[in-house]
Amino acid sequence: MAHTIETIAVVGGGPAGAMVAALLARAGRRVAIFTKRKRPPLVIGESLVPAIVPFLRELGIEDEVRSYSTFKPGATWVLDPDDVVSFRFEDVRKACTRYSYNSPRDLFDESILKAAVHAGAVCFDHHATVERAGDDRVRLTDDTLAATDGFLRAEPDLIVDASGRPRLLSNLLGIPAVTGGRRDTALFAHLEGVPLIDAGHIHIDRLTRGWAWRIPLPGRVSVGLVVDSDHLRTFGGTAEEQYDAYVAADPVIRRWDASVRRLTPVMKYSNYQVASTRGVGDGWALVGDAFGFIDPIFSSGLLISLDGATVLAHAVLDGSPRALAHYQRHVLNHLASWRRAVGYYYDGRLFTLIKVGQEVRKTWYGNLLDPHFSTHFPRVFTGESTTNRYSLGLLSFMCRHSLGDKDPSQLRVN
Ligand SMILES: Cc1cc2nc3c(=O)[nH]c(=O)nc-3n(C[C@H](O)[C@H](O)[C@H](O)COP(=O)(O)OP(=O)(O)OC[C@H]3O[C@@H](n4cnc5c(N)ncnc54)[C@H](O)[C@@H]3O)c2cc1C
Repeated sequence: MAHTIETIAVVGGGPAGAMVAALLARAGRRVAIFTKRKRPPLVIGESLVPAIVPFLRELGIEDEVRSYSTFKPGATWVLDPDDVVSFRFEDVRKACTRYSYNSPRDLFDESILKAAVHAGAVCFDHHATVERAGDDRVRLTDDTLAATDGFLRAEPDLIVDASGRPRLLSNLLGIPAVTGGRRDTALFAHLEGVPLIDAGHIHIDRLTRGWAWRIPLPGRVSVGLVVDSDHLRTFGGTAEEQYDAYVAADPVIRRWDASVRRLTPVMKYSNYQVASTRGVGDGWALVGDAFGFIDPIFSSGLLISLDGATVLAHAVLDGSPRALAHYQRHVLNHLASWRRAVGYYYDGRLFTLIKVGQEVRKTWYGNLLDPHFSTHFPRVFTGESTTNRYSLGLLSFMCRHSLGDKDPSQLRVN
């Protein structure tokens, strides 16, 4: 049975928390967002997929985001220094959105949070604490309630965990998690002097070990290294030592340019492939990274966060257990779909299939089938049809059964 969820406490004012808060406040709900305004010097997650753009429009912030971002017309994959595959979103058949942005995350997060406040949510610069109130129940601590200066006079009807990687409620309640198989560490910083093959494109370089991203931002390029953690440790003790030594030593990166210069400290992320097996419970819900994150390779994190926040807001407005269960299923399915797509990048099947496709396209039957494949495959990666069962099923089938005599391990990411 539906009951009205009137008061909501959102723990975390990142994109997921701010988006759910904006939509609920806009619908007249009483929403408190707890956020720590002081964030690290750089926040990870600067490349947006095209499917995010409609969410920016929904919040009314696309023009603002465009003003400080780099226009992103596509993605360039460097499989080997002499083997480059470029995709332009403009060429994606039946795409709803044919572009995206690369955004400095401090500004991007601020835009969404401002939209939430504009919609009527109230923001508290306070590190929220939550405690267990039963097997599957949680409550805000007295300190945290008090920090709202009476805005929340009692426990809220719903606590939304949007804390990101701390995964506040999953840890508190001991919710089982699915972890990914990779043991990578991501190191990233902003650099100048980094060459690009295609202006505005995110560039993904397959390295001797691991891979790197180049994300062009205004006046600088974000460069991330995603490398096996044990291997990375052999390059030094600190994140800076490891990053600088790896950039200097890797044969693919060394070919970029001698004038590359690091402008910022190096940020480090590891153990990030983790997703909870539940997303809703008695008076609580998880959203964004606090629910789950799969992998950085296809820049899917913010899409999963904003899409999940939107579905959660609708479920909360509906108020029924059925709507909340639908939300949970929706996000679990979204995460599982990206997990499958990501696997085909790391095991080499995706780009082996693309290579096979380039050859087959030259034949009459390949030419005939091409429109069908190019309708379904690219939109799995732009985010528009990642959860479309037919598109993802076709991609999976082709990755498993249509590689001919090609050995996918040649393009595997070590
Ligand atoms: C290596 C790597 C690369 C990535 N690259 C991309 C990319 O290119 N594109 C992309 O779309 N995604 C990318 N992501 C994922 C993306 O960064 C996340 O999916 C996204 O930031 C999730 O948003 P969120 O709001 O759930 O969490 P966050 O952005 O982490 O926000 C959570 C907020 O909650 C606050 N908070 C936490 N606990 C509390 C508390 N107790 N009280 C108050 N506030 C609290 C935090 O300070 C933070 O401000 C990447 C991730 C990794 C690990």
